[in-house]
Amino acid sequence: MTENKTLNKLKLFAKNLFFPDEIKCIFCDRDIQNFNDRPYCDDCAKRLKLNSGNRCKICDMPILSEENICESCQNTVTHFHRAYTPLFYENEVRQSLIAFKSDNKRYLAKAFAIILAKYIGSDIKQFDYITYVPITDKRRKARGYNQAELLANELSKLTGVPTLNTLTKTADTVEQKNLNYKQRMSNLKKCFKLVDKSSIKDKSLLLVDDIITTTTTVNSCSEVLSKYAKMVDVCAVARTILKSN
Ligand SMILES: [Zn+2]
Ligand SMILES: [Zn+2]
Repeated sequence: MTENKTLNKLKLFAKNLFFPDEIKCIFCDRDIQNFNDRPYCDDCAKRLKLNSGNRCKICDMPILSEENICESCQNTVTHFHRAYTPLFYENEVRQSLIAFKSDNKRYLAKAFAIILAKYIGSDIKQFDYITYVPITDKRRKARGYNQAELLANELSKLTGVPTLNTLTKTADTVEQKNLNYKQRMSNLKKCFKLVDKSSIKDKSLLLVDDIITTTTTVNSCSEVLSKYAKMVDVCAVARTILKSN
């Protein structure tokens, strides 16, 4: 066997080891046909709630009224231009995102990237780079990977927009629960450092995360990036719905 063939065999073995289930529904494990179109089955599609109603033009939060901007965005300074959040962080979506993040199910990155790419649609053309919310070296060592980076890489493969490592996280944030939005923002901002100003100067960036809860994290990252970048948009597989809306 030539060296090349051995290498290919090894690559395939590794791929099957890490990305084994690309033909199964990501929510119920049933075999499906068109994984690359929609990585879940018909039954799960019927149950799944998509973020498709009237929503905030900035943070993508569902709004019950006819308003364009949600209450939270009206009262805070948002450093990103808009957000894309196709799913809600509940039920089976929550389960599979937890498995992706904490259970080493890295192969789910491709499935989630397919969902993100569909939701973002032709808007993807406006971005020069796809980037991602960083984690600390300590966290990466413990988990073995950064889930947002895996998502960004898969989204890049699907869309042809290159990824760029733009931020590092220098410290894990302490408990944020008892802090208000402003305090959380200033707390977080200190943790994110820009890798290289010149590579993002006047560029349009899409910042990827797995989940958006309060937008504090993506907003802090966007604040650091938007000092030099022309535009920052953010996306996450799923979002939580804040009670005030
Ligand atoms: Zn299913
Ligand atoms: Zn909003």
